[in-house]
Amino acid sequence: MFDGLSGSTAAPLQSLHLPWLAHAGVACAVLRLDLIDPLVSGNKWFKLQHHLHAARKANAPGLISLGGNHSNHLHALAAAGRRFGFATAGLLRGQRQDTPTVRDLEALGMTLHWLGYGGYRARHAPGFWQPWQARYPGWHCIPEGGGGMEGALGCGQIVEQARAQLASIGWDDYHAWWLAVGTGTTLAGLVLAEQGAHPVHGALAVPRDHGVEQGIAQLAGTAGYCLHDACRGGFARRDDALLAFIADSERYSGLPLEALYTGKALLALREQVEAGRFSPGTRLIFIHTGGLQGRRGYL
Ligand SMILES: *Cc1c(COP(=O)(O)O)cnc(C)c1O
Repeated sequence: MFDGLSGSTAAPLQSLHLPWLAHAGVACAVLRLDLIDPLVSGNKWFKLQHHLHAARKANAPGLISLGGNHSNHLHALAAAGRRFGFATAGLLRGQRQDTPTVRDLEALGMTLHWLGYGGYRARHAPGFWQPWQARYPGWHCIPEGGGGMEGALGCGQIVEQARAQLASIGWDDYHAWWLAVGTGTTLAGLVLAEQGAHPVHGALAVPRDHGVEQGIAQLAGTAGYCLHDACRGGFARRDDALLAFIADSERYSGLPLEALYTGKALLALREQVEAGRFSPGTRLIFIHTGGLQGRRGYL
């Protein structure tokens, strides 16, 4: 029912050419989740799949979820709701702000509720959803960021899409995955789909103490992956070296990146490649997890 969005097929798999990869003899291909659709972009689309199916099955009139005012998750949710005929409501962190993302959410028909910071912090409290369920009877509630097992299972499709295209770039196999990690839901989905066949490297866009490891362990156990620090002092922190790296990489390879996830993930990969972590001849798949809509707010 939701297989494939109109105007989109699989995420394209493209060879990535950068001097530091060539220097180390490491081959890298990018799976462009940013290109699956003009509006419903990135890993958030895969994380929504099972939620959309559950909502349709339950005849839910609408979908509710939470996020911040640059949220890629709410953006994908609003676009998917519009595309597939669900009303949508977004519960936002903080006070009303006018960002490009917020304007898109409203243009896509999402009803917005601003919870303040305290109200947003209460999102894990028992009973948090009760008033919203009373206000929106029968609507399907989706955890922050589309996380949990339902989110992870949808990400198995990412593995299928990449494998189906290996021959198109002249590969018969690959050695490992590399991707940005926020909650770790997407990484957990890859680990579950791989069943140990290929290791998954996660570049942490959030500090270590955010409970990401515990979250991944709950979904996918403790084997088959490796986490690398990549947040550079905190989620959403941006330093000049990072921004220069993004600009250089874009100019050289044509690959658009943003500074919260994909830019930090690629920079962390360069650090590991330059440290000799991958032997010459290694073939890596870097997942472009999307998020480019969010960079209108700061790049
Ligand atoms: C949300 C997001 C991530 C992190 O995904 P998780 O499943 O939470 O780890 C990575 N990249 C981009 C662009 C995102 O929007």
